Amino acid sequence: MATDKKVRVRFAPSPTGGLHLGGVRTVLYNYLFARQHGGDFILRIEDTDQTRFVPGAEEYIFQCLAWAGLEPDESVKQGGAYGPYRQSERKALYRQYAEQLVANGQAYYAFDTPEELEQMRQDFKTEQNPSPQYDHHVRDKMRNSLNLQKEDVDRLLQDNTRHVIRIKMPENETVGFNDMIRGDVSFNTSLVDDKVLLKADGMPTYHLAVVVDDYLMKISHAFRGEEWLPSAPVHILLWKYLYGEDHMPRWAHFPLILGPGGKLSKRDGAKYGFPVFAMNWTDPRTGELTEGFKEKGFLPEAFINLLAVLGWNDGTEQELFSLDELIQKFSMDRVHSSGAKFDYEKAKWYNHEWIKKLAPADLTQRVKEVLTAKGLSISDKAPLQKIVELVKDRITLLPDFYDQTVYFFKVPETIDITAVRPKWNEAKQLFFAELIRSYELMSAWDAAALENDFKEIAAASQLKPGEVMLPLRIMLVGGKFGPHVFDIAEILGKEETIQRIRHTLGLLI
Ligand code: GLU
Repeated sequence: MATDKKVRVRFAPSPTGGLHLGGVRTVLYNYLFARQHGGDFILRIEDTDQTRFVPGAEEYIFQCLAWAGLEPDESVKQGGAYGPYRQSERKALYRQYAEQLVANGQAYYAFDTPEELEQMRQDFKTEQNPSPQYDHHVRDKMRNSLNLQKEDVDRLLQDNTRHVIRIKMPENETVGFNDMIRGDVSFNTSLVDDKVLLKADGMPTYHLAVVVDDYLMKISHAFRGEEWLPSAPVHILLWKYLYGEDHMPRWAHFPLILGPGGKLSKRDGAKYGFPVFAMNWTDPRTGELTEGFKEKGFLPEAFINLLAVLGWNDGTEQELFSLDELIQKFSMDRVHSSGAKFDYEKAKWYNHEWIKKLAPADLTQRVKEVLTAKGLSISDKAPLQKIVELVKDRITLLPDFYDQTVYFFKVPETIDITAVRPKWNEAKQLFFAELIRSYELMSAWDAAALENDFKEIAAASQLKPGEVMLPLRIMLVGGKFGPHVFDIAEILGKEETIQRIRHTLGLLI
């Protein structure tokens, strides 16, 4: 196996729908490996299955990668020396390889109609084998170039009879490879069916296209999800037959991501209320919307971090990693082979930690976008950074910033008066009247001075500060939440603070 080649890795999605977090993790591990080795990261669109093609899905994949900050070096967008990067545009390229395999006896033409295939499934069905495959048990009873006379085959081909090309899986051979995560893996070829390589429409299947393109694009390492492991014996044989096993990339198969009930699925998201896609995805065929991490309010930094540790760790207790640190520390031999459990509570913890970790100016800019998108107009003079710093410890998801800061920009829509009224009395009424007088006269409007005045007036009124602190908070923010109340008052400013106290006092009369 080639190890001395330039590192070139690829992510090869089929544009069939939303980008699952497992897909983004595959992108991430590819990306980290490429960056770590000064290599290239290629995005190849595998759209040979026209029946599964979904409009918009390709563009969406690019948007997700741009949001996550994992953009490829070569792709349909970036271009590159190994294009086209969309398999449907490479269609003409694959047939010659399929024909070469037929000429060498490693593949064959199969002319079976859908009815004949169905008949075969009925005829060979047994209790032990309820869904028989097209393999060495049945191939000599089917209408293919292994059984037909050469003249008949030529005639059928000349007549453009619909046909596919299938690989002829050898009987009872062992093929294997060394997986960078799993070590030596081997397969008995008798257990694998004669997969279609070239379809009747002239398009290659995934199996042929992936091998041809990994070869032509000089891929040095092919990393993909565990669900592709069963296809490996077909791919190994194709490598051997077409290019020689020495050219085969090194492979690694990443562990499944598990949800609460086994393999994480799109349905789990709806069922348990967490996102499974990188970004919102609306299926154009059904109009169904599946929520994404971005729109849910995750920072891309947190998303990357939580994905990196879904199946990998650096061997220490460290949990927070920036992309640069991941590039330094990632190693394939620390990727686990067993399934990685996705824990949404833990995912939110990562987001919370990243909100605290981002540079204040950077975080402020992102919060501004969230608030503006929610319809708040924030003037350049607003002390947004100060506000963000004040509340950020209370935030898990970006949209929480709205609820936790809206009262700085707008008078609260509702005042939780029921939390104040039962314990309201004359003394408190007088206290606030006095507080207004005192605040009106204040020259230095800062939290410490505000608190000082407040406490002095409380003492003079024979009230404990705690008894009037909650009413003040409710007057300023509308409810029982928010940071230190005098910090809030400082930011609101003299006029607004006094106006809000007055307003609630009016409600309490
Ligand atoms: N087209 C395959 C997919 O949709 C790619 C598998 C691979 O990376 O080889 O996941």
